[in-house]
Amino acid sequence: MPGSLRLGRLFGIEIRVHFSWALIFLLVTLSLAQGVLPASWSDTKQLVVAAIAALLFFICVLLHELAHSLVARRLGMRVSSITLFLLGGVSNLTEEPKRASAEFFMAVAGPLTSFVLAGLAYGVHQLAARVLDAGAMTTVTPVTDYLTTINIGVALFNLVPGYPLDGGRVLRSIIWGLGRDRSAATRIASRGGEVVAVLLGLIGGLLLLTGDAVGLWYFVIAYFLFGMARGSLEQERVEGLAKGIRVRQLMSTDFRSTSPETTLDVFIRDLVLPFNLRAVPVLSQGRLQGALTIGDLHKVVASGWSSTRVGQVMIPAREVHSIAPDDLLVSALERLGPSDTFLPVIEAGAVIGVLERDAVTGYLRTREMLEAVRRSNRAA
Ligand SMILES: [Zn+2]
Repeated sequence: MPGSLRLGRLFGIEIRVHFSWALIFLLVTLSLAQGVLPASWSDTKQLVVAAIAALLFFICVLLHELAHSLVARRLGMRVSSITLFLLGGVSNLTEEPKRASAEFFMAVAGPLTSFVLAGLAYGVHQLAARVLDAGAMTTVTPVTDYLTTINIGVALFNLVPGYPLDGGRVLRSIIWGLGRDRSAATRIASRGGEVVAVLLGLIGGLLLLTGDAVGLWYFVIAYFLFGMARGSLEQERVEGLAKGIRVRQLMSTDFRSTSPETTLDVFIRDLVLPFNLRAVPVLSQGRLQGALTIGDLHKVVASGWSSTRVGQVMIPAREVHSIAPDDLLVSALERLGPSDTFLPVIEAGAVIGVLERDAVTGYLRTREMLEAVRRSNRAA
């Protein structure tokens, strides 16, 4: 997700936070400070306690996402990162679940965790009430009450059956498990997401009409949810077009590569300029050593290009996404990261071709045009 900041790593999963979370933090802190905390407190005390509560809420959302990710990984899916944003968070799976049951357990893990956290906050409140005096409890109660309600709220909101919310995933896994294929299940669940978004928008409108500013909040959520549901439908459509096609059919076997010993100036002179190449695989005796992109040239000042070798600045092979010739194009689409211009195609350890992003998008566009022609022929 663009516009996000890397916080660190937990259990090998990268944790990122989207700038829209700053808005949540501000909203949560202000609404707590003004509405919930005792008016007798000083402004500073209100803000500090509200900020602590907001921070704890942030940790709760992170735990909700971690639960999804850890269950997903346990069930054999790869998770690259977690991004916390306006609607809570997203776990970025590098592949979609292969079985309906895996999706079901992964999806329910998040809301379940939120319910547990709500229970925990309630438990802390009960415990604190026994050991602390009434004065101290005026500080503890608003925070624990807030965390109890907000975690129940997070769990319930996420259980709304609109894909890609957790409830939508649960719905999809049930439809899928009942024997429909995943595409059909995704279409139904994504439509559910659109319906939920429209309903939220309508509620927001009604609230605004009655003069309640919270309505604006509903609009923001509806907007994001609609966009996400649309995105899922679009992704499903693309996967439908790519269905049944294997990497071998689209890869090019006549491709340029370079070796780790080549100097950067020769790389530019012989490959970048004459062939307009922005990224090439780096090979040594047919085996993948890494990849070099124009962006990697930034690592060395221009005056050093004649004395620097490709091997010193390339992206090492272990960080390069690759694919096998008999893999499905759909898996290649999942593997192609936003910054990848190609995937090296590897068979028996040797690079036998490259699958270029342009070739994939061009192919999908052609398929789409043919579909459109077929549809209009049928209609005529
Ligand atoms: Zn969730």
